[in-house]
Amino acid sequence: MHLELEVKTTAREQFVNITPQLNELLAKSEAKDGCCTVFVSHTTAAVTINEDNDPDVMEDLLRHLKILVPLKNDYRHREGNSDAHIKAALLGCSLHLIIRSGSFDLGTWQGIFLAEFDGPRTRKVKVWID
Ligand code: ZN
Repeated sequence: MHLELEVKTTAREQFVNITPQLNELLAKSEAKDGCCTVFVSHTTAAVTINEDNDPDVMEDLLRHLKILVPLKNDYRHREGNSDAHIKAALLGCSLHLIIRSGSFDLGTWQGIFLAEFDGPRTRKVKVWID
């Protein structure tokens, strides 16, 4: 079953917790057990799983990605957003999730995040449940 989420980001760089929207999609799908692929079809955004309990964790991740990959450097890409492409490559564009008894089988502190690195934009997240 193919589904899609639209996520409007509000800053150049941010993490958006998309766990609630994905839980809603999963509930509508009525899938009970199986697998789910989450795929973001962009080159300057990513998806990742990390802690959704303490928001400082995602703030720290964003801050340290900025230190690792600065906005300005000796990049060749003329569009001026090479840092965003590199950060997206580091985190990746897809996730594979386990569905058990109608819920994502995540760890207690895990949440699913869209990572925006060149916003604000409207991003598409493709979801395949089987
Ligand atoms: Zn670019």
